Formats: sequence, C-alpha cells, structure tokens
Amino acid sequence: ALMKGPLSPLYFCIGSPVVGNPTQHMMETAFDALGYSGRYLTIEVDPEELEPSIWGLLAMRFQGGNVTAPFKQEVLTYLDELTESASLCDAVNCITRKEDGTYVGDNTDGKGFLQSLVEIAPDLKKRKVVVFGSGGAASAIVTELALYGVRQVMVVNRTLAHSKKLVTNLEGISKTVLGYEPWERTYQIRENDLVVVQATSVGLFAPHECINVAFAPDLNNVIACDVVFNPVETAFLKKAKLAGCKTLDGLGMLVNQGAIAVKLWTDRDPDRALMRASLEEAFAVC
Ligand code: NDP
Repeated sequence: ALMKGPLSPLYFCIGSPVVGNPTQHMMETAFDALGYSGRYLTIEVDPEELEPSIWGLLAMRFQGGNVTAPFKQEVLTYLDELTESASLCDAVNCITRKEDGTYVGDNTDGKGFLQSLVEIAPDLKKRKVVVFGSGGAASAIVTELALYGVRQVMVVNRTLAHSKKLVTNLEGISKTVLGYEPWERTYQIRENDLVVVQATSVGLFAPHECINVAFAPDLNNVIACDVVFNPVETAFLKKAKLAGCKTLDGLGMLVNQGAIAVKLWTDRDPDRALMRASLEEAFAVC
C-alpha cells in the first residue's frame, strides 16, 4: 500500500558479519506487539566504510540502533554524547536519537545481564562475583556490577594484560573491590555463595567446548551464568548444573539488552517473554 501517513521510525543493527544475527526478528516482534510502527533493519557494514555508513544513518535520521562486533568501540567517535556505562567500558551497543537531533551512545549489554541476574539473586550486592574473560561482554558486565555495588568482583582471563587493563579502568568508581588473577591450569570454583560468569567466547557455536574450570562437588548456593546464547545450554552451564549450581543462560541478557533499547526508543516496556520466544524461534530456523 502507498504510504500516506507519517513515515515509520527507522532503527538499525550494524556489524560485520551480521548475517544470522537474530536481533531484527526480536525487535520487530517487540515493536509489533506494542503496536509501534518502527522498522528495524540489519545492515552489513564493510569495516572500511564505517564512517560514511554512520554519517548516512544519522543524516537519514534513523531514530536509533544497535551496534555489534567489530564496531562497538569505533562508533564512539561519531556520537554526540555517551552514557556513564558506555564511557566506562569504552563501548557502545545502543544508539538513540534525542529530540534535538543529537545521538547518545549507551551500553546495555551489562545492564541486560545485571537485570537477569538480580531476578535470580536478590542478594547480589552481598556476593562475590568471578568473571571469566576481559573482552567486550566481560567489560560491560564488570562495569555494571561495580556501578551496582556488589561486594567484590574478581576477573580471570587468559591474557592477564587484558584483565589488568579492564580492572584498572574501573578502579575507584564504587566501593566494589575489584581484582584480577592469572588463569593457570584449571580454575577451581570452591567457594559457597559465589556468582561465576562465563564471559569469554568459548562455547559459541561449540556445544562441547568449555573454559578450563572445575566445580567442587559440595558447593552451596552458587550461581553460574553464561553470556554465550548459541547454544543456549552451553557445556559450562551443563557442568555447573551437575555440580548443583543454579544457572542463568545468555538469552536473558540478550533479551534484556534489547528490551532496554526498546524502552529507550519508545518509552514503553516490551513483552520480554515474547522477545525470548522470538529468539528461540529464530535459532530453531538457523
Ligand atoms: P571479545 O572478542 O571482545 O572477547 C573474547 C574474550 O574471550 C577474551 O577475554 C578472550 O581472552 C576470551 N577467549 C577467547 N578464546 C578463548 C580461549 N580459547 N580460552 C580462554 N579465553 C578465551 O568478545 P566479546 O566479549 O564481545 O564476546 C564474548 C561472547 O559474549 C561471545 O560469545 C558473544 O556472542 C557473547 N555476547 C553475548 C551477549 C548477550 O547478550 N548474551 C552480548 C555480547 C556478547 P583474551 O583476552 O585472552 O583474548
């Protein structure tokens, strides 16, 4: 049908590669359920052409969008403003156009993770959290855990220099005690009441691969989380479940960061259960 009414608000997801990224399906499901006329497009951007691509999207008044690998850092330079989370972890995954036409970059990965964790760990502030990894996902998560004010965060990573940098950047932003330790041989998880977060890329598209950790057999009240969402039930989560831990999969984080974006863009709360179902549907097709 010919468009006669107002134009649809447009949103983007840029990355390279973005083929197979299920965000568009999740976002359009959320928009439709809200009766919102926004359109969400997945756009492959050649890394050599990031700059003209961004200027084009902003010039065409896209209302916002998501940024995925490898552009989460580079995109910062083209934005007018950054939220505290984005500037602390030096990465943007969500962009919003303000009424005055300027663009704000936020990082909602860690916020999405925190939301799903607090739901199953209302006592999170009193706990110690061990985070494996020091890349984009780990950095967003550690930033949010520190802003939230958990008691202690220990970062464990293959390359010590990366964890050192992550922790040094965040030192002093809150009372959270931040530390890092080398990852030599098998990391032993033996403290009760811990939260352990698998935030490396190990296990992505590799259902049998697991980071080098061992869970003590008599653990009590430990929560194990994975950021990897494909497969949803990772080898790490299976191992944790066998050791009696409560588990949190990466889909919760993916859904929540998307739901936070929809809220920023439309000022409305989307149906998270429906968004999760749309992702499960998309993965079943892939
Ligand atoms: P990065 O490339 O930024 O970081 C990768 C991290 O994994 C680094 O810490 C790296 O260690 C570590 N790593 C890689 N290979 C190994 C290995 N063989 N052994 C031990 N450590 C290893 O990736 P991201 O942080 O952006 O993404 C990580 C994962 O998080 C991906 O699977 C991604 O899909 C997922 N993700 C999920 C989200 C969600 O919403 N659920 C949101 C964002 C990401 P080193 O420093 O030594 O190189």
